[in-house]
Amino acid sequence: MAVLQSAEPGESTAPHEHRLAVGIDLGTTNSLVASVRSGVAETLPDEAGEHIQPSVVHYGETILVGREAEKLAIQDPKNTLQSIKRFMGRSLQDADKSSLYDFDANSESVPRIITRQGSVTPIEVSAKILEALKLQAERTLGDELTGAVVTVPAYFDDAQRQATKDAAKIAGLHVLRLLNEPTAAAIAYGLDSKEEGNIVVFDLGGGTFDVSVLRLHKGVFEVLSTAGDTALGGDDFDDLLLELLLEKSGISTTASLSANTLRALKTEAKSLKELLSEHDQVKVDFSYDGLSIKTDVTKQQFNELSDGLLKKALLICRKAIRDAGIDLADINNIVMVGGSTRMPVVREKVSDFFKRPVLINIDPDKVVAIGAAIQADVLAGNKSQGEMLLLDVLPLSLGVETMGGLVEKIIPRNTTIPVAKAQEFTTFKDGQTAMMVHVLQGERDLVDDCRSLAKFELRGIPAMVAGAAKIRITYQVDADGLLNVSAQELQSGIQAEIQVKPSFGLSEDEVTTMLKASQANVQDDVRARSLREQKVEAQRVIIAIDSALAADGDTLLSDEEKQKIVEARENLYKTSQADNEDVIKEAIELCEQVSADYVARRMDQNIKTAMAGHNIEEYK
Ligand code: AMP
Repeated sequence: MAVLQSAEPGESTAPHEHRLAVGIDLGTTNSLVASVRSGVAETLPDEAGEHIQPSVVHYGETILVGREAEKLAIQDPKNTLQSIKRFMGRSLQDADKSSLYDFDANSESVPRIITRQGSVTPIEVSAKILEALKLQAERTLGDELTGAVVTVPAYFDDAQRQATKDAAKIAGLHVLRLLNEPTAAAIAYGLDSKEEGNIVVFDLGGGTFDVSVLRLHKGVFEVLSTAGDTALGGDDFDDLLLELLLEKSGISTTASLSANTLRALKTEAKSLKELLSEHDQVKVDFSYDGLSIKTDVTKQQFNELSDGLLKKALLICRKAIRDAGIDLADINNIVMVGGSTRMPVVREKVSDFFKRPVLINIDPDKVVAIGAAIQADVLAGNKSQGEMLLLDVLPLSLGVETMGGLVEKIIPRNTTIPVAKAQEFTTFKDGQTAMMVHVLQGERDLVDDCRSLAKFELRGIPAMVAGAAKIRITYQVDADGLLNVSAQELQSGIQAEIQVKPSFGLSEDEVTTMLKASQANVQDDVRARSLREQKVEAQRVIIAIDSALAADGDTLLSDEEKQKIVEARENLYKTSQADNEDVIKEAIELCEQVSADYVARRMDQNIKTAMAGHNIEEYK
């Protein structure tokens, strides 16, 4: 008897078909691609058998990516673009002017770097790296990719995430989702141990530092808090050794050195640092373009030099733990990520700080790509059920401008994402047909103290009396941390929306500064908010009086009564120009007192008008 195979609608009849999906760790220094093959997540090698590709692109006669490009760094520094991740989603003003590249002064918000192949944006450079990784994966896996999970630092803001997504699109990759690097690392470890508890992910790469506090509960990761420094990484340790080498050779400044010599010295310092991870003492014999340095450097010397940078990193850890609302003692595991955590001094100091050993069993260079590959495998549908639900948090609150230049928070900081929240607002004036939606980021109460992300207008609101229209404003932050804001008038259904793509991003320092400012100014903010609210109320009362007087002031009021109301209104207007909250409040109360009879008469009048031509019996 023949056995017929059947399938539910939408379910594949070929259950073993595996969709090729990869995880990509697009790093500042190096990038990797990984995939789950036969149930095991592993990084994929290129034709030369290398798993780690330098994040370097050389623009010469042709465009070279990775190791081939890196080889040309000394010879042709201005056309060899490295550490380009630092410029992603940044404006030209934000770009690090100390870098060796020539920026096109005419570039508007996105910086353009001048190369032999014309000027290029950081997005285009990143796209070249991603394209090379895509080819590397397709060559190894033997087919086209269904999609990719690309990782980004936890502190990347909207602009930086969008820039990364755009780069992937240019590279021909279908992005299944962007994933925070620390979260990816936790997935790599979470697979092995299904334990519950709090995990700190300490990620010290080539150019950036991220620390995240995660809670693992029944296989679900929740990011409790994140902190970091987008300008702290292995490069800074290299610089310490570079300065030491210069000092030992009696050179007080790098100003006298050519770009090529400086580049060669940086390479020397980096390899010296890596050797010091294995040896107690290393001999330096450097000679380049007339500069010669012969000396010995000990691990002890290096450890002492590193002290300041490590103190900085541990201070950031302390802040992340505080933000997570837990104690140091509540932490069960510390996951080490990034090539720089190979430095013994880093492992020791972190372990001392947390008073427990740190996790290093997965290669710290590969752990992020491996976690991303596991996530890509789930998202591509290769797992029977989506086992992993990942939650990240917003670094700063998102709000909307309300009357009086105040900010109403819609989603508070540290809310887990993806998230959607809505709030209802109304019109301020009679007959108001448009409303400006001003999207803001930050912790302060006043618009001027927050960061403006976007503005758009909802038009076509049906004309109604003030306060009658219902406008729902919805903030939706997707799994990649991108914000979508929509506004809808509920009676007519008219709608407007915007995807927020700020023209340049916030550095981690700016985030810290904004948070500090909000804490320092709590008292001032409360006072300022209540004064502004009083001023808005005054304005509302004035508008209401004006429109009532214009409509029926002459018919319902005697001259004397009208005079009193006009005087109270004038008094309110005058007091609302000054900054005394109590006086404004009194003036509002006076207006209400003198117009109480008038309000009652108007109500009677309205009822009479509404009932005209009807019989009282109809209303019983
Ligand atoms: P990543 O951005 O994670 O690829 O990290 C690269 C950084 O790790 C560079 O600054 C490297 O110099 C550093 N690194 C790699 N291996 C070692 C090592 N054995 N000792 C010290 N630093 C290392």
